[in-house]
Amino acid sequence: MKRKVGIMGGSFDPIHIGHLAVANEVLNIYELDEIIFVPTGDPPHKEGLRADACHRLMMVTMAVLSNDRFSVSDIEIKSSGKSYTLNTLTELHKIYKNTEFYFITGTDAVIDLPNWHEPGEVLKLCRFIAATRPGISLEEVGIKIKGIMEAYGGNIEILKVPMLQISSTDIRERFRTGVSAKYLIPECVEQYIIKNGLYRYGDTRL
Ligand code: NAP
Repeated sequence: MKRKVGIMGGSFDPIHIGHLAVANEVLNIYELDEIIFVPTGDPPHKEGLRADACHRLMMVTMAVLSNDRFSVSDIEIKSSGKSYTLNTLTELHKIYKNTEFYFITGTDAVIDLPNWHEPGEVLKLCRFIAATRPGISLEEVGIKIKGIMEAYGGNIEILKVPMLQISSTDIRERFRTGVSAKYLIPECVEQYIIKNGLYRYGDTRL
């Protein structure tokens, strides 16, 4: 029987409780064996991440420590050049033989799939789970996702996650303006951000 492995793809800038809740939901619902968090290195589609890759990787590593079904991969961070999901999945298929991958990320990223590098090939290598935030129109997203599957094939499912009300944008804004983010991010991540002066008060890059 094939192993079932989830890949949590995202910037994780920073990782928050919503991401961990999404991973746990997917693990339970799809009966996955494990979930690998893969923080983006140098995203092909945008510039100006607010915390360096090494900090984002460290925060994700600390956040998943307490769950023995969660792990982290630096595959995108350590690769030189652009980190395309197609390359990531191709590499992971070489490492994990006889495995079915579930690529988990935010709905905004999934509906942008037609603009990714080789979307049809990406869809052949994994199933997609699009995690939605409260407030997003499921009907609208559903129509877009249906269109993507008609154009490129593959399997994309939408997962509604109430805990995704939390966003990294909001967390960064809290640190910038000095508002507590307690209980929205793991305590170790909060301490790491403070210790390293990330997203700090007065930083105008947000
Ligand atoms: P992002 O900027 O970090 O996230 C986009 C949106 O999705 C945000 O609303 C984010 O919320 C949410 N999100 C991110 N990761 C999530 C997760 N694992 N579960 C639930 N929600 C999540 O991410 P991105 O840069 O768009 O990239 C997302 C993934 O798609 C990455 O793995 C990236 O490599 C891949 N991607 C590939 C290509 C390509 O191959 N050409 C192009 C675009 C994206 P928060 O801000 O709260 O995290």
